[in-house]
Amino acid sequence: MSGSSYTSLVRDLPSTVPFVGPETQERAMGRPFRARLGANENGFGPSQKAVEAMARAAGEVWQYGDPENHDLKKALADVHGVKSDNIIVGEGIDALLGYLTQMIITDKTPVVTSLGAYPTFNFHVSRAGGTLHMVPFHGDHEDPEALLTKAKETKAPLIYFANPDNPMGTWHNADVVQSLIDQVPDGSLLILDEAYIEFAPAGAAPPLDVTNDKVIRFRTFSKAYGMAGARIGYGIGEARLIDAFNKVRNHFGVNRIAQIGALASLHDEEHIPRVRELVNRARNRIKQIAEKNGLSALESTANFVAIDCGRDGAYAKAVLNGLAEQGVFVRMPGVPPQNRCIRVSTGPDAALEIFAETLPIVIAGLQA
Ligand SMILES: *Cc1c(COP(=O)(O)O)cnc(C)c1O
Repeated sequence: MSGSSYTSLVRDLPSTVPFVGPETQERAMGRPFRARLGANENGFGPSQKAVEAMARAAGEVWQYGDPENHDLKKALADVHGVKSDNIIVGEGIDALLGYLTQMIITDKTPVVTSLGAYPTFNFHVSRAGGTLHMVPFHGDHEDPEALLTKAKETKAPLIYFANPDNPMGTWHNADVVQSLIDQVPDGSLLILDEAYIEFAPAGAAPPLDVTNDKVIRFRTFSKAYGMAGARIGYGIGEARLIDAFNKVRNHFGVNRIAQIGALASLHDEEHIPRVRELVNRARNRIKQIAEKNGLSALESTANFVAIDCGRDGAYAKAVLNGLAEQGVFVRMPGVPPQNRCIRVSTGPDAALEIFAETLPIVIAGLQA
């Protein structure tokens, strides 16, 4: 096919990916990472009940999944006290962000987010032909007031806000988030990305209100549920908004094994408390490691910790590269001033001990 057959969008877009995968880095290095602490995956793993259910389902994988995601939607609706009509299941939050941008964005539609917030959202906005308007973080937090001001100024139909935030791990209390929801201008929709909400204190999530069509909440099985590789997540919102996804979604996109695993992990009531406890301990350990090396850890309520390397982005990048050379995969924020930090995911003790061994070597090497 000749280049001229592509849409102008594809011809004009730069070839970017929001995240370079650790596998790509491993191929480039010619060896695997020793500690995988960069992608906010849940190294403590999925629910054992989910593992067993998925193993049983493997032999049935010749069957497509249920395109309606009926049983999972019903279970999620019960958990959240809403109706199945208020739930959309998709191939992770990432896919749902893709569908939503497709539903709302046309040529140059203004969209508001924070500078340095979740880059996959930005990728979907650009891919749909929208124009991003980004407001700075305020004190390492996403800034609801600034988002609202920018949304009013640009008349953006779409506003993105994550709570807890990635990459800093900071969060706002429910009253702040509720006030943001209440002030969403007419004609705008707030995406409340709650990928890490299961780790947050009880007071971080405002109550669900599925009568409000100005907000959609996104949740995932990738983080607390430890099923990132299964690619499954969901949105909660007003029924007509949810139904609109059916016009654009890939109806057989969610795979059967993921549906079965997600359902089993929802029914395992011990899983989330167990993971919260392990993540809590791992966060403290990361903080300890940072402090032992003269660095400070930001207060986090997610399954990762941003470590302030104390200097500029170039220095944090050198720390990150040094860690990669030592076989430790971490990531870092993309823009100043947040990029003075590296972002370290929680994980099992063995991985954190490798991080504890290698960080002083890396820092000593940089000071030499
Ligand atoms: C990890 C993450 C996601 C991705 O979720 P998937 O369900 O795996 O696509 C979405 N939003 C934020 C803020 C994340 O950090």
